[in-house]
Amino acid sequence: MELAGVGVSPGIAVGEALLVEREAIAVFRLLLPPGELEGEVQRLRRAVEASREQLQAIKERLARQIGSPHAYLFDAQLLMLEDPMLLDRTVAVIREEHLNAAWALRTVAERLQALFEEFSDAYLKERRTDLDDVLGRIQLNLAGTPGAPSLSRLPRPHVLVAEEIPPSEAAELDWENILAVITDGGSATSHTAILARSRGVPAVVGLRDATRRIPAGALVVVDGERGRVEVEPSQPALAGYRAAQERARVEEERLQGTRALKAATRDGVGVRLLANAEFPEEARTAALYGAEGIGLFRSEYLLGRALTWPSEERQVEVYQGLLDAVSPFPVTIRTWDVGREDLAPGGPSSPNPALGERALRLLARDPAPFLAQVRALLRAAAHGPIRMMFPFVGGPRDLRLARELVGRAVGELAREGLPFRADVPVGLTLELPSAALTADLLAREADFFSVGTNDLIQYLLAVDRMDPRVAPLYEPLHPAVLRAVKRVVDAADAAGRPVSVCGEMAADPLQALVLIGLGVRELSMSPAAIPRVKAAVRAATAASARSAAAACLDMATAEEIEDHLRRALGLASGTGVVVPS
Ligand code: PEP
Ligand code: MG
Repeated sequence: MELAGVGVSPGIAVGEALLVEREAIAVFRLLLPPGELEGEVQRLRRAVEASREQLQAIKERLARQIGSPHAYLFDAQLLMLEDPMLLDRTVAVIREEHLNAAWALRTVAERLQALFEEFSDAYLKERRTDLDDVLGRIQLNLAGTPGAPSLSRLPRPHVLVAEEIPPSEAAELDWENILAVITDGGSATSHTAILARSRGVPAVVGLRDATRRIPAGALVVVDGERGRVEVEPSQPALAGYRAAQERARVEEERLQGTRALKAATRDGVGVRLLANAEFPEEARTAALYGAEGIGLFRSEYLLGRALTWPSEERQVEVYQGLLDAVSPFPVTIRTWDVGREDLAPGGPSSPNPALGERALRLLARDPAPFLAQVRALLRAAAHGPIRMMFPFVGGPRDLRLARELVGRAVGELAREGLPFRADVPVGLTLELPSAALTADLLAREADFFSVGTNDLIQYLLAVDRMDPRVAPLYEPLHPAVLRAVKRVVDAADAAGRPVSVCGEMAADPLQALVLIGLGVRELSMSPAAIPRVKAAVRAATAASARSAAAACLDMATAEEIEDHLRRALGLASGTGVVVPS
């Protein structure tokens, strides 16, 4: 590979490349009470002062190292810090508009940046880089000052409006103070959406330009059920939303009361309702919602913000913690479901990451993290009932790779004399069409299946689950999806293997009933969805679900299927509206 550019400093060097990425920090607007404004001005002054000291130190070091004539490079930045256009104006915005320092600085910065854009002189235009550098430095110093508000520590409840929320950031959000989440990108099965659902926080994604169209501080109403966002609603509309919100709250309370009730249909067919979890704390909420265990633990959170593989010891601790939280129920832990792009964002990416090098496909490149995880799972299993689940399995060959890995880990642990269990059930997330078509073969070698409908739908229908432009084509009730699930359930039943569904279909009452009609007896979903699905299960009969599902298998479109199910099962859609108070 050869790259062409512009040589600007002569010489030749050979060495290992160090890839550098810029980390942006999140900046947001907060309206502050008058009593907090002076404190905010002080924080700004401290951040500017810290920036000045840092720049001065850099300048002095540069003068020592390469001589003072070059140190003038930083004079421009030091001068910008003195400039009343920057500091005084930002202070004025804080005081006059009652805004937090970071946002005030951003609004002032935008005006200054626009000024720089207008310069025709190349040298002056180039100083825009200095301006951005100085602003970035002040923002970082502001974020580092004691008492700085951050997305993990908001002073009061807000509706979060963002382009996208990366999973690592979503994990650290101050969820207690987040009324709703709305994003330009994302989809129903993006991890932020899944997380919002599990926290019971309404979310609307795929809005494309919400961040451009919603002014900061505007009053917004988010209807997470219908995917609608209303900005500055009229008084009558607001009153209507508040009434709907109250109805939803009462309904939620009623559903919460169902925790101790059995999940069984009116004709006595029991359905096990389990929880999906992304973070260990969710395991505790799962128990509160009446989950009979964890049907899917997405272990990727363990990679953390730094995206580094966790040690085996740390994993053993976390997996045992999950077992303790839901004891005596079992926990199904999914092994690393990551792609190369997830591990090194910004690096070389596959043209289609969903079809690229991910999960077990990374084994050949780097088996160590997979082996460490399997070892940790076998060790934690000595503490309680664990099931090990491999994602992205395309057929028996992939499953054999997984089994070989387990065999290797068992051999190692036995030699080392550490406590572990060798007979941990090994199953797969059934989420690829190739796995659905070979389900009978897989059932001979797998201990269980968990149907990952989120991906199964995406791959069966060739609809990217992350692309909002094709979101209307993402049809859980497409005949191909129902037929695939039926095939998998039949194959599992014939081989006497348990089969559950852990995709989002399990969390939708109507879709859950059709799954039950197809023979599924175990559903795993966001904890907050459990009461609603339980209510639907208790109101239905397995016989009617079975005959409705059988009829659907002969229908041509998702619309016909949905219509039929609504009529046959008598389910209307509910509402989940949030209005900031
Ligand atoms: C799925 O694919 O259905 C699933 C449960 O896993 P994820 O959403 O993490 O891909
Ligand atoms: Mg999946």
